[in-house]
Amino acid sequence: MKTEFSLAQLANPDIAEADKILRACVHCGFCTATCPTYVLLGDELDSPRGRIYLIKEMLEKNRPPTQEVVKHIDRCLSCLACMTTCPSGVNYMHLVDQARVRIENEYTRPLTERALRAVLAWVLPRPGLFRLSMVLARLGRPLTALLPSPKTASATPTLLRRIKAMLALAPGRLPAPGPSGGSVFPALGERRGRVALLQGCAQQVLAPRINQAAINLLTRHGIEVVLVKDEQCCGALTHHLGRDGDALARARANIAVWTAEAERGGLDAILVTASGCGTVIKDYGFMLREDRDFAAAAAKISALAKDITEYVSGIDLQPPQQHSDIVIAYHSACSLQHGQKITQAPKELLSKNGFVVKDVPESHLCCGSAGTYNILQPDIANRLRDRKVANIAMVKPDMIAAGNIGCMVQIAGCTSVPVVHTIELLDWATGGPRPGLN
Ligand code: SF4
Ligand code: SF4
Repeated sequence: MKTEFSLAQLANPDIAEADKILRACVHCGFCTATCPTYVLLGDELDSPRGRIYLIKEMLEKNRPPTQEVVKHIDRCLSCLACMTTCPSGVNYMHLVDQARVRIENEYTRPLTERALRAVLAWVLPRPGLFRLSMVLARLGRPLTALLPSPKTASATPTLLRRIKAMLALAPGRLPAPGPSGGSVFPALGERRGRVALLQGCAQQVLAPRINQAAINLLTRHGIEVVLVKDEQCCGALTHHLGRDGDALARARANIAVWTAEAERGGLDAILVTASGCGTVIKDYGFMLREDRDFAAAAAKISALAKDITEYVSGIDLQPPQQHSDIVIAYHSACSLQHGQKITQAPKELLSKNGFVVKDVPESHLCCGSAGTYNILQPDIANRLRDRKVANIAMVKPDMIAAGNIGCMVQIAGCTSVPVVHTIELLDWATGGPRPGLN
């Protein structure tokens, strides 16, 4: 794609990056076929190619974001299916991330929407506040019946609709909190490795059992696990809201404490059980490339970050002990398959450990969770969730496995089939407890 940035514009490293990305796009449109919003809405402006044009116009002409641009960028899930499909290697992620920051900085949203986004950005990365909000949401859930329901689903939802979606996501009960930062879980037997395990923010409130399963499995196989003290939310949630000041501050804080831990006790890897977080931590090196103080450390941390299945694939697991006939529908989280290009490892691990693994039809399509998307765009998110659950039902699974808490909550909201994390199944197969929902 031809671009016309001025030399002065290109002096800005972000614009120079955008220029490189835009020039790689040959506007072939292959990406439209796998874009969930284009598949549902059929509007070119809700396709990757359409959004790329909108972003190009905004950046090239140095125009403030218009309502039209904001509408179509907001509808993007950042699922990155377009990056998997694109034959030209267009880095849509870095382009849309930049567009979101510009929107956040230069576009004035209606007051109610600003308030909602501010609350999400403040509450979700803070586990204590998030826990409290889940308790309040659970208490408030009966009130949703009193809120008016829209007659038809809309791709531009109202605040009420979003509040209803938020309340609907609250779980029926919350599990007890898991271990806190600063905890060290020694290897059982001879120590063969030492890793940090990201504690996560929403996940540690909704499903601490996931990291517990990771700790059980790792220590059982000779790996010492550290929950690093003073670690923060990885920044993914605010990054996807375009609030890069917050996201980068969290990235720097995490880089500092992880680097100190690596220097103190040694770290073979920083393991992540929520693939949405893993994708962003693996991108810290890029996000902080212009930061003289942090660029080198950020690149090292990104290189150390691994999805739990990536790391466990390199361990000789104990032979499976049971459950060879259980059928697992493997839901491939977008952040894992498109963001991190990890597609086979989780399925191979499950198969090797005695499970019958089934691919889900249309597995490239997002389930609609996408960070805060299922709150901010509930109608599109629900359509994607229903489509995903119907596709999962086609393989008649006993359980559904996924590698990202957001997907797990989204899918569990619409099926009676137990939804578990891949690591819980692997822990179970190698001697841990049978996973359930809580
Ligand atoms: S597939 Fe890639 S090159 Fe083709 S239009 Fe989409 S982003 Fe551009
Ligand atoms: S990230 Fe997902 S929703 Fe956004 S343009 Fe790409 S495929 Fe479409």
